[in-house]
Amino acid sequence: MEHIGCAYSSKYVKSLINMRLSDQFIQSLESKLRHFENLLLCKSLFPYRHSQYLDDIKNVKIRNIFTRLRVNNNKLMAYCHKGDGLCSHCQVPETASHFLFTCSSGQLPKIRKKFEQSIKNIAPVFGTENIDDKLSIVLSLNFSWQEAIKIACSYVKDMYNHRFKVNRNP
Ligand SMILES: [Zn+2]
Repeated sequence: MEHIGCAYSSKYVKSLINMRLSDQFIQSLESKLRHFENLLLCKSLFPYRHSQYLDDIKNVKIRNIFTRLRVNNNKLMAYCHKGDGLCSHCQVPETASHFLFTCSSGQLPKIRKKFEQSIKNIAPVFGTENIDDKLSIVLSLNFSWQEAIKIACSYVKDMYNHRFKVNRNP
């Protein structure tokens, strides 16, 4: 780390790498075990690699959306290695945080407004976080209330479905 003058502590970088490797590993295993109704086998084989969001999301399709967004393996322009990586509507890099929290394309702002109104009633602290914190909280489902987890799951699902089924890439 000291050779590249990195500002982050090696412990922090290690934890990020571990989370990403863990997610990628689970995603690849999950795609191989798609026909399994749950991840019991995965959990029993690799309990120390298990992320909480996999338990919180019962629906396989929604879980897959979360994993894709968490490991940047999805069709958002910033990750799909096609074109300039920009959002065709906003002309800024189409990252997961842009897509979920700032993009003004199609119905996305409307879906987001509904989500923010509902989540503020249950988790008021959420309204004060910055975009990177919001992304991390939502994609890790880091809420104390079950109701907030449900709202966040359906938010991410609705946004993703709108982006890729209604509002396809040009
Ligand atoms: Zn956009």
